[in-house]
Amino acid sequence: MKTTAEVVIIGGGISGAATAYYLAKKGVKDVVLIEKEYISSGATGRCGAGIRQQWGTEMNCIISKHSCEMFEQAQEELEYEYDIEFKQGGYLLLASTEKEEEQFKKNIKLQNSLGIDSKLLTLDEAKEIVPFLNTDGLVCCAFHQKDGHLNPFHTTQAYVNAAKRLGVDVNTFTEVTDISVENGKIVGVKTNKGDISTNIVVNAAGGWAQKIGQMAGVDLPLYSERHQILVSEPIDEILKPMVMSFSLNLYCQQVPHGGIIMGRGDETEPRDLRVTSSWQFLDEMAKTVTHILPPLKNIRVLRQWAGLYNMSPDRQPIYGPVDEVEGFYVAAGFSGHGFMFGPSTGVIMSEYILGEEMSLPVDALTLNRFKEGKLIFEPSVV
Ligand code: FAD
Repeated sequence: MKTTAEVVIIGGGISGAATAYYLAKKGVKDVVLIEKEYISSGATGRCGAGIRQQWGTEMNCIISKHSCEMFEQAQEELEYEYDIEFKQGGYLLLASTEKEEEQFKKNIKLQNSLGIDSKLLTLDEAKEIVPFLNTDGLVCCAFHQKDGHLNPFHTTQAYVNAAKRLGVDVNTFTEVTDISVENGKIVGVKTNKGDISTNIVVNAAGGWAQKIGQMAGVDLPLYSERHQILVSEPIDEILKPMVMSFSLNLYCQQVPHGGIIMGRGDETEPRDLRVTSSWQFLDEMAKTVTHILPPLKNIRVLRQWAGLYNMSPDRQPIYGPVDEVEGFYVAAGFSGHGFMFGPSTGVIMSEYILGEEMSLPVDALTLNRFKEGKLIFEPSVV
């Protein structure tokens, strides 16, 4: 491991990996990435890895559209030898109330104005895409063909491998234990394998981001919350799009190897660093999904697991420098959408660190918004 670095990135998930890649691509020589376990061991390797451009705020539409376009090129750009499994089967969003339908109509108008080709579907049209969809109690659906999902392990590894080829020093099974700050400036990080002198630290530590903030003396308004997910046995393809409902609280998709991955939120989940699994999740998940997609009652669950949503007060990420400590940057608080923002996160963080003009409209996402009471309202989060 290097003992000096221009930039130290803490976290080997999609955010840290993409940041390392874009910094190195722009010519930053001494980038060190530190991961306490293996690449994608945090939320990234535990997530649904769904990506959608169907958002309700202009900012999120633009960030996710940009990411999607980069995912489309990632296989080639990153020269990755395996398949990152980008399947653009679309996202079918279900509306169960007239209020939700109204929101979808507003969202689609906004999305279309930004070049996102989403559309409102009648229930009959939705059944052309998912013939066994139980439309009882539904009002309409929204659909965008270019939404989809990837393999999160391969995608993140593709960024890591490309970053390494550009000279990034990647250290797995290495834990940052403290951050040294002198006179309000970052001067180094301590790890269980030695110290590194640096003036720039990027906190891309996902569920542990608040802890990393504390090491630098910064109290980030973040907490972590368990989210559970499961995969079925592999079966022949029956489901092309991701099926998602905000009000019914579910998402469900079939991945290329045939397994069906599904998850749901639960307000009673523990708010700490636990990633254990519960039978209550299995029970609730099975009831919800088999109501909407009845044939799924015939397939077996292969495995369940959990990961951490890192939550900010408005469930939107915190991007950028921290005023109190010079050289300390944050990319955290992604709630349930940090994977799909990944490539954009890398670009955004590299622009902040290099003092470049920002190419995406993320000024409103700095830490200062909480002090200033300028929280963001995004109607389409899970
Ligand atoms: P992480 O992937 O958590 O990476 C942070 C890394 O930092 C970890 O690997 C950790 O080990 C490391 N670290 C922490 N502390 C230290 C330390 N002291 N020293 C060294 N390393 C350290 N998002 C989507 O876009 N689409 C989805 O469909 C989706 N589904 C989800 C489903 C579930 C069940 C969960 C849990 C999340 C889901 N998300 C989804 C959210 C998404 O997974 C996260 O927002 C995203 O992966 C965050 O990436 P990250 O790189 O910021 O953090």
